[in-house]
Amino acid sequence: MTVTAPGAPIRLMVLEGDGIGPEITSAALAVLEAAGRRLGLEVVCEAFPIGFTALAQEGTTFPGRIVDAVPRFDGIILGPVSHNAYPPPEAGGLNPSGELRKRLELYANIRPAFSRPGFAPRCGSPVDLVVVRENTEGFYADRSMYLGSGEFMPTPDIAMSFRKITRSGSTRIAVAAFELAMQRARRKVTAVHKANVLRIGDGLFLECVRTVARDYPDVAYEERIVDAMAALLIRDASQFDVIVTTNMFGDILSDQASELSGSLGLAASLNSGTEAAVAQAQHGSAPDIAGQDIANPSSLIGSVAMLLAWIGGRHGDARLEIAARLMDQALSDVIRVPAQRTRDLGGDVGTRAFTDHVVRAVGALPLDTA
Ligand code: NAD
Repeated sequence: MTVTAPGAPIRLMVLEGDGIGPEITSAALAVLEAAGRRLGLEVVCEAFPIGFTALAQEGTTFPGRIVDAVPRFDGIILGPVSHNAYPPPEAGGLNPSGELRKRLELYANIRPAFSRPGFAPRCGSPVDLVVVRENTEGFYADRSMYLGSGEFMPTPDIAMSFRKITRSGSTRIAVAAFELAMQRARRKVTAVHKANVLRIGDGLFLECVRTVARDYPDVAYEERIVDAMAALLIRDASQFDVIVTTNMFGDILSDQASELSGSLGLAASLNSGTEAAVAQAQHGSAPDIAGQDIANPSSLIGSVAMLLAWIGGRHGDARLEIAARLMDQALSDVIRVPAQRTRDLGGDVGTRAFTDHVVRAVGALPLDTA
């Protein structure tokens, strides 16, 4: 991806996805535009079809020209995709999310979960943690192999799923977690694993995290076995700050943490590497509510805010980081008021009306609030 000079337009690739994807992407772009206006940012978006739209038009859910075009952009906004309903890869059904993570080396999936003022967490105490999930290997059949699938059936009655853990993958995700912890008040990292059973795979993962931990003496470090961690999160999520773990454990624990913090519908997520980043909601394409103007767009709005902050860091442009904080603060201000909440949060406000509230809140916030 490009690193544009400060003050130059921000160029974003937009991939709407399936199901509620178009509705929540349009909501996130409206809020982004409002924040951009406040900060005098020029944001240029270019949409590419993916998912079922691309399958109908181009015979594949993820046209190859998308990855070729990535270097022209500062970042990517990806709506949720219905990959579970896609045909097999040989019939054009590629998972855009997995393809982007693998092909752009988006090794760090950063998933914050925090309680919003006025919106009670589902556990007793307030939550403020970030799951740092390895994103390019582990138990994911579509990204752990160079060629072929990580799942196979030697006989019709035996299914094998292959899990890959590497020293380089584990080390770089550990560095991402400790670097993040250094920016946070509590400076604590919890490594989550199952090395009591997966002695070799998670043993290697833990060895790498421990090695990295030695370079960060100011960060408190602890380890938890994943099954106990699932219980501890429910018992008292407030004790955790940064959680670093392998791909599938991170996928599951981050949804759990987000729900505990209030709702999965609020859960932002950024897939990042050294050269590229993708804003992507934590939830799926919700086909059951698609096209009904009832989806909560908060997760993708928050993800786009994370992307702006990531681009701002690369550009050295503080305005993007302020715009990101404005978007996030506006979300909190809107959600604080029960009459402004979407259905999943117990309200009855539609996607478009909720977006209008957030756009107005972005316009009304003093810049120094952010
Ligand atoms: P889902 O997250 O789409 O939906 C689970 C439940 O949460 C549904 O009841 C849905 O209506 C609700 N929900 C989800 N997002 C919401 C939102 N923004 N506002 C209000 N309600 C919301 O999970 P699923 O039904 O298991 O999966 C549907 C499809 O999404 C599948 O094809 C799956 O493979 C895919 N998926 C995609 C991603 C992704 O693109 N990142 C992630 C998970 C699942």
